[in-house]
Amino acid sequence: MSDLVLIIEDEEDLVTTLEFNLKREGYRTLSALDGEKGLQLAMQTPPPDLVALDLMLPGISGIEVCRRLRENERTQDIPILMLTARGEEIDKVVGFEAGADDYVVKPFKIRELLLRIRAILRRTKPGQKPDMAILVFGTLKVDLNGHRVWISEQEIFLTAIEFRMLATFLKRKGQVQSRDALLNDVWGVNAFVVQTRTVDAHVKRLREKLGSAGKYIETIRGVGYRFKDAPE
Ligand code: CA
Repeated sequence: MSDLVLIIEDEEDLVTTLEFNLKREGYRTLSALDGEKGLQLAMQTPPPDLVALDLMLPGISGIEVCRRLRENERTQDIPILMLTARGEEIDKVVGFEAGADDYVVKPFKIRELLLRIRAILRRTKPGQKPDMAILVFGTLKVDLNGHRVWISEQEIFLTAIEFRMLATFLKRKGQVQSRDALLNDVWGVNAFVVQTRTVDAHVKRLREKLGSAGKYIETIRGVGYRFKDAPE
């Protein structure tokens, strides 16, 4: 099951943008336009994997929401990413004192926010041991637990979907993967909303991002794809 991100933010346009981008990265989302609603949603079972929390909210402030999340044993371990306005230096500090795990300053780039979210989840997910699953294949190096990828020692950024696709390919090196199988393994339960041509589009983008390692993914005409058995 993909990670669930709860967005607590009163700017509706920003909520829409965040939801759109998080979903595109493979996350599930929930959103609340004020702190009360946000706290209610945070109490649900299973709880969200991360809360993106605006500081300036109508009613209960972001700081107060943060404190209450930390006080309640059902929500105390949920990582919190604070969204703060520029120049709120004091609030940043207060945010950490209230128990936030990290913050981004508005206006932020969506890519930056996604990187922070991924980094927090990587740090806080139980049972994930970094450096335990580093895979090297030709010019490609992949940290399966840390969700990091390097081409010729240069780190590249993959979306969650692209990373899952690459990991799926690597686990089944040398085996042909049909588009349907990839849909099922990479997109999982939501596969019915994804078209097989989406698989092709993602493979194309993944290949481009992999650069010199892109050639390891071979097209098997009429069937699907195959990750090479050996680099050369
Ligand atoms: Ca606000």
